[in-house]
Amino acid sequence: MTDATIDYGVIIELLEDILGDYKMHNDYKGQISFDCPVCSYDLKGLDQGDGKGNLEVNYRYNVYKCWSCGETHGTHGSIYKLISKHGTPKQLKKYKLLRPDDNEELGKKVYKQVKLPKEFVSFSNASEGLKLTHFYRYAHNYVKSRNITDEMLKKFNIGFCYQGPYMNRIIIPSYDIDGHLNYFIARSYETRTKMKYKNPEAQKEIIIFNEKLINWNDPIYIVEGAFDSIFLPNAIPMLGKVMSEKLFEQLYEKANKIVVVLDGDAWENAQLIYHKLNGGRLFGKIWITKLPLDKDIADLQGDLSNYKIYQID
Ligand SMILES: [Zn+2]
Repeated sequence: MTDATIDYGVIIELLEDILGDYKMHNDYKGQISFDCPVCSYDLKGLDQGDGKGNLEVNYRYNVYKCWSCGETHGTHGSIYKLISKHGTPKQLKKYKLLRPDDNEELGKKVYKQVKLPKEFVSFSNASEGLKLTHFYRYAHNYVKSRNITDEMLKKFNIGFCYQGPYMNRIIIPSYDIDGHLNYFIARSYETRTKMKYKNPEAQKEIIIFNEKLINWNDPIYIVEGAFDSIFLPNAIPMLGKVMSEKLFEQLYEKANKIVVVLDGDAWENAQLIYHKLNGGRLFGKIWITKLPLDKDIADLQGDLSNYKIYQID
């Protein structure tokens, strides 16, 4: 659903019916704040709210969060969740007609369980016997040619398959916050191949690639591919040139500084992502860098020292 087809005025009215008068409204960002129904009414027992407007809603991105009790009381999530908790069934029904694509499950959809191919061999744990084979050397030569170090192989548990459906592919697994596998990418290291990537049939839109390794307090690099992400500290790959809603929501809630570094040929996309992120509580916390047309982060081995990292006016 595109912006043009949604009547935001009706959504704002609906939010006002539920939460009372708004405190601040940034029309351009789609951002609107209210007194929090949880901490300003329920917890403090006030009839009128505390006037602080701590509850921020972004009606363009269907998210809300209370800056005071968001973490302690779970006061964050989709607008669907907000209305189902604090509105009437009638109001929820009205909202569903306006935004049929938003629902409580959106943020926590259960995805198909992903398993590594049974032929997967981790470089770090390969047996001495296997290391002597040409299978191993073929795969290992490829990762070396991509400037991937032994430390990276170990840190990311990178491996390969020399047989089976993922034969002659380098595998980079992704682990969720609890260390459970939730995705992997499988890139061919054959010079002639029809399919460069063969990834599992999981919903990559609802995962944060290798979230286990992300420190949300440190600067976060947003990059395109999994191969890029291993060359920078604290990098999240979008697994494409477009950012998923899930990643956007997570960044909006948790990040404090973000650097957008897409491939040289994706400057337009990089700028779009920059502007999408640069609002609300992330305003002024987004940085960007432009790589040469023919370069990606892996080519530069993660060394961005020759490129200016800056903010767009
Ligand atoms: Zn609150």
